[in-house]
Amino acid sequence: MPNDVLWIDTGSVNCYLCRDPDGYTLIDTATPGKADLIFERLAEFGGQPSDLRRIIITHADIDHAGSAAAVQARSGASIHAGKATAALLTQGRSPRHMPGVMQFVVDRFVRYPRPEPGRIVTFAAGDTMPVLGGLHVLAAPGHTPDQHALYSPTTGVLFAGDALNTRGGRLQLTPARVTADMAAAERTAARLLDLSPAVVACGHGAPLIDDPQAVAGLLALLPLHPEDPI
Ligand SMILES: [Zn+2]
Repeated sequence: MPNDVLWIDTGSVNCYLCRDPDGYTLIDTATPGKADLIFERLAEFGGQPSDLRRIIITHADIDHAGSAAAVQARSGASIHAGKATAALLTQGRSPRHMPGVMQFVVDRFVRYPRPEPGRIVTFAAGDTMPVLGGLHVLAAPGHTPDQHALYSPTTGVLFAGDALNTRGGRLQLTPARVTADMAAAERTAARLLDLSPAVVACGHGAPLIDDPQAVAGLLALLPLHPEDPI
């Protein structure tokens, strides 16, 4: 892992801190109740709460957006997300991508603390964030329709959200049963793997570091070509 990226393993889900001369950026915020852990790790990484400049949310699932409000309240950081994700954040809701009964339960009962709407900035694919020498915002639909991944060409780190994971020690796609559009998820995975990232920093499972064989191996299994339009 590059020196300026820190993996935070919160148990079931990961978030990541990026360090730049002007401050820190948090990518995803784990489940509700993880703000203390995130600030502990930020301190170990050399930062105070007020040094956190930005919070990027890959998608509005509760295990990625759950502590966004608490982290924002204590740091004053701005939140950055895609348009549909931003709209869900202001309601504390998650996107639809679950099997029938589970989706019903999520729609009905699952809410997470809502961050301040005035501090949410929307981004779109093609934008570049001033993080790690230029962090490219990439559309990563499939698991959820409005997921975004982030790629830093300078460091080779791909923040994949739930487009890819390494659960069970193997690089793979998120299971079809919790994927809104599997064909889109396969196209997204192919486009991301085609970047040949040095590090795949995924939402679940340990980051995959310097394993080009695993990246090429999964890319070869995907039915669609990376150049296919999404
Ligand atoms: Zn998710």
